[in-house]
Amino acid sequence: MNLLLLSVDSLRWDAVGRTHPHLLTTPKFDSVTADFVFTDRCLSVSTATRPVHQSVFSGLYPFEHGITGQHRRQRRRGIPRLMAELSHAGYHVGAFSEAASILGGVDIGTTVSDVSAYAPDGLAALRTWLRPGADQQALFMHYWSTHAPYGAADARALGETAELVRDGHIGLVEKRYLQAVEDCFELKIAPLLENLDMSRWTIVLFGDHGERWTAEELYHGQTLHHDVLRVPLFLHVPYQSARPGEICSLIDLAPTVRDVLQVPPVETFGRDLLRPVSEISPYLAQIEPTPHGLRDDEILSPASASGQSSTEVWWSVFDAAQKATIREPGGIWQWTTPFDPTAVPLESPPRFDATHVRRQLLAGSTYCRSGLEDGIDADVLGARLRDLGYLS
Ligand SMILES: [Zn+2]
Repeated sequence: MNLLLLSVDSLRWDAVGRTHPHLLTTPKFDSVTADFVFTDRCLSVSTATRPVHQSVFSGLYPFEHGITGQHRRQRRRGIPRLMAELSHAGYHVGAFSEAASILGGVDIGTTVSDVSAYAPDGLAALRTWLRPGADQQALFMHYWSTHAPYGAADARALGETAELVRDGHIGLVEKRYLQAVEDCFELKIAPLLENLDMSRWTIVLFGDHGERWTAEELYHGQTLHHDVLRVPLFLHVPYQSARPGEICSLIDLAPTVRDVLQVPPVETFGRDLLRPVSEISPYLAQIEPTPHGLRDDEILSPASASGQSSTEVWWSVFDAAQKATIREPGGIWQWTTPFDPTAVPLESPPRFDATHVRRQLLAGSTYCRSGLEDGIDADVLGARLRDLGYLS
C-alpha cells in the first residue's frame, strides 16, 4: 500500500466541482476522483495553516501539540509524527510544499522540501520522487497557489487582494480564487492522480481551512466562522469504504491513515473513518488569531501549558447538528448549526453542554501536560509570516 496526502491550502467547502459545478469547472479532476468518497461535512481543527498541519500529522488538537495559532512557534515534546513512523516502518517518505517555509517549526516527521508552483515543474519533481510500481511510498504535497493572493499582480496577500476585499470587490477576489483552485485541480492534481495505480494508493485530499473575505477576516485564521472552518475531504482507500458519516473532522485523518497502513494507533480524540460508529462524540476546533500591530517579541511568545494564552482565543465544539463557539476572554457560547453558511443563531436548546465538553477534552489529553520544545526562532518565523502575507 502507498499513501498520498494532498493538502490544498485555503480550499473552501464550496470550491468543489462535484457539489458546485456552477462555480468552477474541473472535468479532469472530477473524472479521476469520481470513485473517491467525498464529504463537505468535514470541519477543520483550526483555521490557520500551521496549527492544522501539525494536527493532521500528529492526530492531536492544537491545544495538545502546542501550535495554537499561526504565530506560535513551539510544539509540545513527544507528540506523534506520522511521517517519521512511516519512515521507521520502511516507507519511502517524501514531503513537498509550494511554500515550505510556512511549515517551518511544524514537525510532520520528515523534511518538507520546496517544490515549484509552476504546474509542469511541480509535477516533474513529484514524478521524479515517485518509484513506479513500488509499494510502501508515503508522499505529502501541500499546494499553496490556492492561498491568497491567488496570483494577484503584486503577489502580496495583504496588498492588492486585501484592498479589493476591504473595498467590497468580493466578486473579483472570488473569481481569482476559483481560477487558482481550478488550475490546481486540473493542471496539478489530476495529472498526478492519472498516473497512479488506484488499487495500490490510499489518497487523502483535504482543505486545511476555508476562506472568508470579510472586513473582520480578510482571508482566514481570525475566527472559527463556518466559511473558514468547514472544508472538503476526498478519500480513496483501495477495496475499503470510508465512512465520514454526518460529520467528520481533520482530526480523524491520522487514525484513519494509521489503520490503512497498519501503523500502531496512538491515543487521540480522532476516529477511524473506516470503522462504523454508533455515535460520534463532539469535536473541537480552536484558533488564536495572529495579532496585528504588535511587535514580534509580543506575538511570538510561548503558549502557556494550559492551552490558554494571554491573547484572544476562539473555541468551538460541535456535533452534526449544533456548533457552539466562544471568543475568550469574556465571551459566551454562541450556538449555530455547523453546516449553515449563514451561521444564524439557533433557537432550539443546546444538545450538549459546551463548557463541559471542552473541559473534558482538555482534561482528557496526556499530551497537553508535556513541556514545550525550543521551537523555531522567533525572528525567522516572523520573517516567514511577513513574506507570506500573514503579518503586515
Ligand atoms: Zn492554510
